[in-house]
Amino acid sequence: AHLARVEAVDEKVHAFLHVDREGALETARRVDAKRAAGEKLGPLAGVPLALKDIFTTEGVPTTVGSRILEGWVPPYDATVTRRLKDADVVILGKTNMDEFAMGSSTENSAYGPTGNPWDLTRIPGGSGGGSSAALASFQAPLAIGTDTGGSIRQPAAVTGTVGVKPTYGGVSRYGMVAFSSSLDQGGPCARTVLDAALLHEAIAGHDPLDSTSVDAPVPAVVEAARNGDVRGMRVGVVTEFSGEGYQDGVMRRFTESVELLRELGAEIVEISCPSFTKALAAYYLIAPSECSSNLARFDAMRYGLRVGDDGTRSAEDVTALTREAGFGPEVKRRIMLGTYALSSGYYDAYYGSAQKVRTLITRDFQRAFESVDVLVSPTTPTTAFPIGERADDPMAMYLADLCTIPSNLAGNAAMSLPCGLAPEDGLPVGLQIIAPAMADDRLYRVGAAVE
Ligand code: GLN
Repeated sequence: AHLARVEAVDEKVHAFLHVDREGALETARRVDAKRAAGEKLGPLAGVPLALKDIFTTEGVPTTVGSRILEGWVPPYDATVTRRLKDADVVILGKTNMDEFAMGSSTENSAYGPTGNPWDLTRIPGGSGGGSSAALASFQAPLAIGTDTGGSIRQPAAVTGTVGVKPTYGGVSRYGMVAFSSSLDQGGPCARTVLDAALLHEAIAGHDPLDSTSVDAPVPAVVEAARNGDVRGMRVGVVTEFSGEGYQDGVMRRFTESVELLRELGAEIVEISCPSFTKALAAYYLIAPSECSSNLARFDAMRYGLRVGDDGTRSAEDVTALTREAGFGPEVKRRIMLGTYALSSGYYDAYYGSAQKVRTLITRDFQRAFESVDVLVSPTTPTTAFPIGERADDPMAMYLADLCTIPSNLAGNAAMSLPCGLAPEDGLPVGLQIIAPAMADDRLYRVGAAVE
């Protein structure tokens, strides 16, 4: 049924870069056979899923939305892919994304943009716009995304779906193509809080193949999603996430959600986190710096595309020609920014200062969580903007992640879930819930209460 749905609508939506029809049907048949034989089934047996094209999949192409990996077929599965297979999930295919997960609209994909199912002329968010659009257009009930600065939560917000960035280290990064390793975090996307929790539990947990994986029990997210009792919980409203630039309808729905939490028995307090105003600036030094190092591996020798290798050119020339043709403009911009920020003479002024701001942001969170259980804010300042509107204005594009980036810098857990439609444009608004590291269960408890 889901493959038929993909066939019927994805020509218009363009959520998928690759549909693995045969693989999906084969898995579905295998699950059926197991069920018929009375064998033990995985926790998500037979449930279809859309996988962001940043996770390696053995024998199935993985492009990361880039020409530079065109034609590359990974010889191994990412840990997330492996765990999905162990859970007997049916992977339908790989979803569209901004190239190397750099962007907030999926317009930076080398393979063309994805439409927002609520209005195909608008962006589905990014970088994981393919995954959010697949959910919102009912092509899959579950999806996987990655969140370096908001790429799970912002697409969820603008498509009326649920997306969770687990605590950093909560879900393995092994086989997840690296953008900014100290920020990157894979996580679940779904249409309900409980669905997200079930997927979260299937993919989370310690992985010896990822040196930053947390070796501790997975928070009890499913139990929390089934509970939804917020009586006596203390909820902090972040003062800095409001004011100029926030759409009226977004603030209206956000304020209603806060009122709902109060009615359900939560105690609401205002919390100021002054360093959050510097988060965007710090992020756009740290993420490009790490990307400039991580993307050095795309040298035309190891993977994918190779341009100009006609027997007359040096290896350096082939690498340069391949990068010129294989990387898009945003990726080149980030590599140049990062290389500059890390260069001798500038390192302390740029990268060093950004790391200090990162520490201040972490301290703001620590102080806040001394007096509240969770923080809440709008996920994004505005609803989905029209495709093309911010494409030539990187600064305007970067603002989409104003409220999501602090949690990546601090490494704590955060969720976006739908909280209604903005009256002025009828488009979905996202509520963001933020919890301390390894308290991911609180996101699900609060999310289930207001869903
Ligand atoms: N939009 C942000 C960026 O372009 C975040 C992307 C992400 O989370 N992968 O870097």
